[in-house]
Amino acid sequence: MTSMHVLSGVPFDIGTSNRSGARHGPRQIRAESTLLRPCNLATRAAPFDSFNVADIGDVATNAFNLEESIAIIERTFDEIVATGCRPLAIGGDHTITLPILRSMHRCHGRLGIVHIDTHGDVADSIFGERITHGSWMRRAVEEDLVDPERVVQIGTRGTGHVVEDVDWPRQKGFRVIPAEKCWHQSFAPLTEGIRETVTGGPVYVSFDIGGLDPAFAPGTGTPEFGGLTTMQALEIIRGCCGLDIVGYDVVEVSPPYDPSGNTALLGANLLFELLCVLPGVQRR
Ligand code: MN
Repeated sequence: MTSMHVLSGVPFDIGTSNRSGARHGPRQIRAESTLLRPCNLATRAAPFDSFNVADIGDVATNAFNLEESIAIIERTFDEIVATGCRPLAIGGDHTITLPILRSMHRCHGRLGIVHIDTHGDVADSIFGERITHGSWMRRAVEEDLVDPERVVQIGTRGTGHVVEDVDWPRQKGFRVIPAEKCWHQSFAPLTEGIRETVTGGPVYVSFDIGGLDPAFAPGTGTPEFGGLTTMQALEIIRGCCGLDIVGYDVVEVSPPYDPSGNTALLGANLLFELLCVLPGVQRR
């Protein structure tokens, strides 16, 4: 169990299909993170008493070249994982999770995934492109990076190009909790089922900020109404306590669409909350 953590920004948004701007997510989440204090007063977790967390800056992506950027992200996370540190990534659009998972898989083998999102991100292709923010999960399954029986997707909703996007994850064995199953209720009773689904091996948590309703997180690339609340997001993350989380990301914060800064502030808080449930965290 490592106590060393590496925070890395991934300024990349050329895999996005509509609104851009997530390349500015890392810097804005860092800016808003200045409001964070060292202790979680709800759970008493004190991650900075427990862990060394080093911000190593941003991955040197190439804004003119998607394929090269993916390769750069993969190599960078290979280097991070090789140090024995647990990687924490700030996106960037959701495409970045694919190269990160490739690195994580080389170190840990097939991963369980807690995936909070607006969409399942399982499109075979979007406008003919196979590496996008809406298809990384499909590639991850095809490349055998994840164990489909240990994948849970939470918060999916909205319009789509094809109904297959709803059927494919279930056919692969994912546990899918669409947004409408979360409406008007606490998430706490569902968290035990989430833990049961993904437990039994290393777990990666991928939090697309678009999983939340645009009322809470307007600054994102693909907003869809009827999403999760901030309270449900905290319940989901706190429910991950006890899992063997080997890495995580918070993606799709787009500061140009976030005039209040609240989406980035939420992203910073979600990163902190995730630190608060990692194996070995101490409580005051
Ligand atoms: Mn996504």
